[in-house]
Amino acid sequence: MADASEAAVPAAFIGHGNPMNALEHNRFTEAWRSFGASSPRPRAILAVSAHWYVNATVVTAMADPPTIHDFYGFPEELFAVEYPAPGDPSFAQEVVDLVAPTWVGLDRDSWGIDHGTWSVLAHLWPEADVPVVQLSVHASQPLEYHLQLGAALEPLRRSGVMVVASGNVVHNLGLIQWGEPDAGADWAQRFDDAARDVLTTDPSALGRLVEHPDFAPSVPTPDHFLPLAYLAGMAAASGEPVRTLVDGCVMGSLSMTSYAIG
Ligand code: ZN
Repeated sequence: MADASEAAVPAAFIGHGNPMNALEHNRFTEAWRSFGASSPRPRAILAVSAHWYVNATVVTAMADPPTIHDFYGFPEELFAVEYPAPGDPSFAQEVVDLVAPTWVGLDRDSWGIDHGTWSVLAHLWPEADVPVVQLSVHASQPLEYHLQLGAALEPLRRSGVMVVASGNVVHNLGLIQWGEPDAGADWAQRFDDAARDVLTTDPSALGRLVEHPDFAPSVPTPDHFLPLAYLAGMAAASGEPVRTLVDGCVMGSLSMTSYAIG
C-alpha cells in the first residue's frame, strides 16, 4: 500500500449519454479527454457503470475482461469497438477487502467492460493500457448505501487508483426529443442545475434531490443516477470541492454534465 500522504488521484462522474459518443468528438468527449490527460497515470481504474445494474455489488475479477456491446440498433462500427485494457484480479480482491464488511462479489467469468465504461474510457484513457476493474451498481440498495460505498472507496485514490463513475444525472429515454440535439427540456435543465448546486455545496446531501419536483421525470429509474452517489460519497469523505468538468443537456432528456474531485 502507498502511504496516506501520497497525492490523491482525481476521480470523476461522467455523464455518458449516447453510446455513439465513443466514436465522436464533441465538447463532452473533449472534456473527458482533458480530464484523463491532466491526471497522473493510475495503477488501476475502478469504473462504476450504470449498465451493470444487478442485485449485488460485484467487481470484475478476470485477467482479460471482454468488451461488452450491451445495446442494439446502433451502427456496426460501434459493435466493432474494443477496449482491450487488462483486468487486475488482485486489485479486485483489494476492493473486496477494503469495503468489508460490506459484501462485494468477485465476477470471474460473467461480465466485463460494458459500454457505460468503454464509451467513456475510449476518450478518458484511450491507450487502454491501465488495468480496469468494473464495479456494479446494486439495484436493490438505497441511495445512502451507494454514498457510503463511495466514501469507503475514497482511500483508493491515495494508492494510485482512478475511480470513474459513469451514468447520467438526467436520463429519460422515453422523453427524448430528437429535434433538440443540443438542449434540455426546462424540467431537465432545472434538475441538472439543482444537482450541481447540491454537489458543489454539500455532496453528502445528494438525497435531497429525491424531493425535487423534477426528480420523477429526470430519474425514472435509478440506474443512471446512482453512479453519481459514488463521486458524492468520495467528495464528502475527502472534503474536496466538486468541480464541473462540462455541463449541459442534450436531446431534451439527457444530462451530459460531468464532475470531478482532486
Ligand atoms: Zn447509459
